[in-house]
Amino acid sequence: MQILKGLFQVGGDINGLTFDQPGALWNDGNSYILQTEEGLIMFDCGCGDTMDQIFANMRHWDLSPDDIRYCILTHPHFDHAGGGHILKQRGVKMVAIQQTAEAVATGDERCCGYLYHKTFRPFSVDMVLQDGESLNLLGVPIEVMHLPGHSMGCTAYFFTLHNKKIVISGDVIGTLLSGDFGWSGSIDFDKKIYTQSLLRFSKVDTDIMLPGHGMIYFHKPRVRVEEALNSALMQWR
Ligand SMILES: [Zn+2]
Repeated sequence: MQILKGLFQVGGDINGLTFDQPGALWNDGNSYILQTEEGLIMFDCGCGDTMDQIFANMRHWDLSPDDIRYCILTHPHFDHAGGGHILKQRGVKMVAIQQTAEAVATGDERCCGYLYHKTFRPFSVDMVLQDGESLNLLGVPIEVMHLPGHSMGCTAYFFTLHNKKIVISGDVIGTLLSGDFGWSGSIDFDKKIYTQSLLRFSKVDTDIMLPGHGMIYFHKPRVRVEEALNSALMQWR
């Protein structure tokens, strides 16, 4: 689906863009493509078993999978990063914050393969990021904000497109209902750290939020984060 000119959602089973197995709603996180004149930047890549579906979706919008230059990960969970090994084999440069890079390099429980009864195929990250870093990929400035809690590797990415400030937020907030937040079963989940991340994220204004699952928010996405913060403060202390 085209979100803005040059920005697409190409995977995500809750939206029906991909499908892994009957009964599965959270097996495939949202994946996005940002188109530049020098190639494509992908954000998250789904569980891996749906990569052919993602590539087929891309072709609907004349996006060639061969043009993917980078894949930036929001965190190491299987439904977001499970397909990383396939992209690596295709020569795509993988990009992630330190904590995510460490998790996907081992493929251990931080990647949650057990939750999907699958084995996470480990891979190495080519470009390891730090909190607060400003990237410039294919001419696009991208700000990196580490927001741990749902997993220790959770990271949001900010960039501007057509004068809109976009954030790719992964599972920092849940996206089905207001005030929702990401799944709390991760082995490295931490309520206190998560609440601090929501507090930090709630101070940032954006125009469009592209989350890790479900719906995209075109209006007042910060309100969703404030509601999630409120829920966290009420439920987690
Ligand atoms: Zn997750």
